[in-house]
Amino acid sequence: MNSLNFQPIGYVTSCYQEKFGIPRQPGLVTAAKSQLILDDDFSEECIRGLEGFSHIWLQFIFHQTQKQGWKSMVRPPRLGGNKKVGVFASRSTFRPNPIGLSVVALSHIEVKNSLIILHLLGCDLLNKTPVLDIKPYLPYVDAIPDAVGGFATEKPETLFDVTFTDLAKKQCRQAEARLGEDIITLITQILALDPSPSYRNKREITDRIYGMKLYDFDLSWQYCENNKIKVLAINS
Ligand code: SAH
Repeated sequence: MNSLNFQPIGYVTSCYQEKFGIPRQPGLVTAAKSQLILDDDFSEECIRGLEGFSHIWLQFIFHQTQKQGWKSMVRPPRLGGNKKVGVFASRSTFRPNPIGLSVVALSHIEVKNSLIILHLLGCDLLNKTPVLDIKPYLPYVDAIPDAVGGFATEKPETLFDVTFTDLAKKQCRQAEARLGEDIITLITQILALDPSPSYRNKREITDRIYGMKLYDFDLSWQYCENNKIKVLAINS
């Protein structure tokens, strides 16, 4: 087979510092702001006209899992992690060619010292993800209202009420001041989707503390009775 060589056109800067906890599709966590910084090979000419589109498609490399290869069947989180479907029937990161595809909102475009920065909302991409291509989202062809969604017809439910300890609230306010972002909304949206899918509906309440990295801090939480998640702390 021929090998093809592609160069990234730029890299994403996002709040997600590790794979665990990233929403499983774009658009679910609208409070997640990220930037796509284009390589300096690309001038303003390359994006002329793009500002007229509210959404864009990104093709990117699953760079963090790329070396782990792929399998012909995968267990989508949507099916509770215990039923298999074919890799091509899934949006798994473990694919023969580790290429991802996400439609994201284009908030605005900034040109800073001739560097082009696309400000994006609702990305499901890890920090430092290499991007291969951008295409405008064309509603007349890309939005298909009567399309059939296989085993993933509905938008994932938000199963959890997210609460914060006083300490966590205080730390979130400090992070908001430092980062200029709405951290409480971001954390609430991420955790409401439950990052640990395979336990869905049968989560045992234990003392176990879960964690993920966002921006420059570690977020920790616990599952409580009545579908509640308690954010314990965010520590730098
Ligand atoms: N919308 C894309 C991605 C779906 S998989 C597509 O359909 O192709 C979404 C998962 O990709 C996220 O939960 C995150 O864990 C993972 N992910 C995001 N960026 C990644 C990267 N650079 N390397 C490896 N995995 C990544």
